Amino acid sequence: MLPGLYVHVPFCARKCPYCDFYSVSAVNLIPLWLEGLAREAALRAGDWPGPFETVYIGGGTPSLLSPFDLAALFEAISPLRLAPGYEMTIEANPENVSVERVRTWLDFGVNRISLGVQSFDPRWLNESLSRGHTVGDNMGAVDAVASTGASLSLDMIFGHPGQQPEEWASDLDKAAATWADHVSAYCLTPGPGTPMGRALAAGVASKLPGEKLASELFLVAGEALGMRGFTRYEVSNFARGGAVCRHNLKYWRREPYLGLGPSAHSFDGRGRWSNTSSVRRWAAALGRGEHSLEFSEELTERQRRMEQVMLGLRLAEGFPAGLTEHPDKLAELEEGGFLTLSDDMVRPTPKGLLAADALAKILA
Ligand code: SF4
Repeated sequence: MLPGLYVHVPFCARKCPYCDFYSVSAVNLIPLWLEGLAREAALRAGDWPGPFETVYIGGGTPSLLSPFDLAALFEAISPLRLAPGYEMTIEANPENVSVERVRTWLDFGVNRISLGVQSFDPRWLNESLSRGHTVGDNMGAVDAVASTGASLSLDMIFGHPGQQPEEWASDLDKAAATWADHVSAYCLTPGPGTPMGRALAAGVASKLPGEKLASELFLVAGEALGMRGFTRYEVSNFARGGAVCRHNLKYWRREPYLGLGPSAHSFDGRGRWSNTSSVRRWAAALGRGEHSLEFSEELTERQRRMEQVMLGLRLAEGFPAGLTEHPDKLAELEEGGFLTLSDDMVRPTPKGLLAADALAKILA
């Protein structure tokens, strides 16, 4: 089982009001971050000889990086070997994408672009999400990627105040009519400490859809994209022509992955850890030849099994029935239409994927 490599690019031009990923707008820190990255890759290379089967350059906004900075990024991670046939994804914001930019990424070995379009409707894109790019930027970026033939994934967000299922279906239809072979569809969930999260808690922002409408929106996504040849292979992820994200599958299948950069997470099969969410503290520790961790845990055998069940409930491929400590509940859940049981595998139905967290409480 070959590992995956995640590189966190912690820079964004501006902070979106709902986002709680770690990123800063201080691009003057890019040289310090690149220095830290080279040190971290060199330090980890001994324990993680690879070869790495997937690379995911995420953020933050990796598409903010100039070709010069990207060259330094690839130089920094060069001690980590890649496997033949690797998948390499870069996350991009539409306003940074041009044919020339995409060609540069492909020249560096990238073969998959994950584009944060979020919506093709200005009501959701600009009014609800306050994103700085336009529907026109989305279309231009999609066309730029399509002209190069690179694999394209679109990130979409649903669950806006007042959004109806038919409006969400129409938004997805526009996404599916593009060159994209992968769509990630996430429900708008503002972090509690974000401006949108605080406004919602204070009752001064328009309410998000309630549970019933949110469930309808979730199910509509499967139907709308299903009509365009996409299959839901994970709670929030759809692919057509088998173009699943091999990197993200490693997270859900509990395969090892190494995360580099501030706030990046890692998992080695026995335990997981995350780096400090501060460019300066992370880089300073690496300057002393140390890692600066925010969190780490070793998992017991039972915790590992429970994780397999919880994560398997997020995947259409499911998990081996022998992993649950509550096999007596399976028949009842199958009868309720939440899952199917065959070949000793438990596979969630669309209704089961919607209720993955509740099912995990019963089966894990
Ligand atoms: S949503 Fe993306 S672009 Fe916006 S702040 Fe978060 S990481 Fe940056």
